[in-house]
Amino acid sequence: MAADYYGLLKIRRDATQDEVKRAYRRLARELHPDVNPDPETQERFKEITQAYEVLSDPEKRRMYDMGVDPFASSAAAGASPFGQGFNPLNDLLDQFFGAAGGAATRGPRSRAQRGRNATIRIELELSECSFGATRELTVDTAVVCPTCSGEGTAPGTHPQTCDICGGRGEVSQVTRSFIGQVMMARVCPGCGGFGTVLVRPCPECDGDGRVRTRRTIKVRIPAGVEDGTHIQLAGEGEVGPGGGPPGDLFLEIVQRPHEIFERQGDDLHCTVTIPMVAAALGATLSVESLDGPADIDIRPGTQSGQAIPLYGQGVKHLNGNGRGDLVIHVTVETPAKIDVEQEKLLRELAKLRGEEAPPGRFAPGQQGFFSRLRDAFNGR
Ligand SMILES: [Zn+2]
Ligand SMILES: [Zn+2]
Repeated sequence: MAADYYGLLKIRRDATQDEVKRAYRRLARELHPDVNPDPETQERFKEITQAYEVLSDPEKRRMYDMGVDPFASSAAAGASPFGQGFNPLNDLLDQFFGAAGGAATRGPRSRAQRGRNATIRIELELSECSFGATRELTVDTAVVCPTCSGEGTAPGTHPQTCDICGGRGEVSQVTRSFIGQVMMARVCPGCGGFGTVLVRPCPECDGDGRVRTRRTIKVRIPAGVEDGTHIQLAGEGEVGPGGGPPGDLFLEIVQRPHEIFERQGDDLHCTVTIPMVAAALGATLSVESLDGPADIDIRPGTQSGQAIPLYGQGVKHLNGNGRGDLVIHVTVETPAKIDVEQEKLLRELAKLRGEEAPPGRFAPGQQGFFSRLRDAFNGR
């Protein structure tokens, strides 16, 4: 028959987790073996601890409310009715051999824990990636509570040594198991292993030692970053529980696509289209670069697909000197529409260059290729 855990802790069946905890803490202070070593009190202490173990665990409590007592059933049947993943005996052995947190450590643990890291994504233009940028960032983060300076207690008060464990953060418990009576050290349920209790928690942070706030920081992003670069700002993350040291803040760079340049490493690539005649005769062309307009020489006889490098006009190298290149890829445009006069000139040119008009499926004759094409189109 299952024990009446609610009765043992003197709480109602609908007690909250907080009420369960408080009820146990109150009784544990009275009944703790360090305070009352007589066997009867020790037996009661074990009972209320068992009740607390079940009722403080939402899953075990749900099972208990359904009429299944985790402790009674495992002792009787030897097999857990809960299937794998819940076995009080395993829990016991875990604690005994130190697999569960707390049992293996000695002494109270610090309330102050290191804060978490945080990551912020920053979108930058290509030129900002190349030359660096400064940004003011607004971050929602946790800072040390100004009221209690991280201690977690109301002004004028301090954490008090835990009555249950005497400041050790753990309690010894005698438990019967199949290997006989074992003495186990386990995390003190009165203080959660801290060795101290916050009798009057700070009203501003509710004992957490930190408060959430919004703050602005100015960050300098170095030249040469690219899409996906992470910049670590040590100590700019959120403050930890108990006013513990802050974590780090990471900036993740997102580079906005550029309408002209495609970046490959620290080189930039772009395409310019030049007229056929300019490609043949050569020309000077003004192109965009990161540093503003730049003149490039198109040499006579430039072919479509040719690349013209502008050395040192690319993106700055990160953590180093120098820059990548700007590579201009040339596309030569063949005229799509020509008038009669232009055709005449081109045909003369072809004749001068000894280039025959390509053979067509029209009858050979004195007429040129273009005229034949046009005649065919007009239905002549
Ligand atoms: Zn506070
Ligand atoms: Zn304690």
